[in-house]
Amino acid sequence: MKMNTRNKDAAVVVFSGGQDSTTCLLWALKRYKEVVAVSFDYGQRHKAELECAKEIAGELNVEWHVLDMSLLNQLAPNSLTRAEIEVEKEAPVDDVPNSVVDGRNMLFLTFAAVFAKQKGITDIITGVSQSDFSGYPDCRDVFIKSLNATLNLAMDYTFCIETPLMWIDKADTWKLADDLGGLSIVRDKTLTCYNGIKGNGCGNCPSCRLRREGYEKFLEKYKK
Ligand code: ZN
Repeated sequence: MKMNTRNKDAAVVVFSGGQDSTTCLLWALKRYKEVVAVSFDYGQRHKAELECAKEIAGELNVEWHVLDMSLLNQLAPNSLTRAEIEVEKEAPVDDVPNSVVDGRNMLFLTFAAVFAKQKGITDIITGVSQSDFSGYPDCRDVFIKSLNATLNLAMDYTFCIETPLMWIDKADTWKLADDLGGLSIVRDKTLTCYNGIKGNGCGNCPSCRLRREGYEKFLEKYKK
């Protein structure tokens, strides 16, 4: 088997239009000559997510693709994909929240890898984080390393999955966006709210609370 060498000039960013992946997009733009953003349409509750992704990619002048993953909705109906299932206000104590789509990151990264290889790109950037681990097993570092090895074997290719947010919390994710000159775009243009409200969001859902607490901690830690 003859493996390729790593292409350090280009990257594919797995891009949802949320805070984390937008920060990763800004991170990638500083490091690579060519950056391609890939979003997934899986029948998510809020089409606004894809609208935000499109707007941000346009503003940052990044090539943007949407891959159809409607299969995911068929396989794993839950509160993020089905409008009739309400998002839980509090995550269950000893279980993963009902906003989890089993295997979502694995599937996204795998499809992103197939896409990247077609473009001769080896580096794939994802905004997963083990620090704010909220019960999503495929956000863990051990999983990412395992998948990286699997993808290399599956496609006989030297992928490099980069995870700039793996060991930092939400406050430091805001700090990173600020350092990259993208604080306002992340604050105003991204969508993380489970109720589909851009920017600061509804303020009440678990995702908005996490985002706001991180932002307040960021201001406290770095802006005083
Ligand atoms: Zn919200």
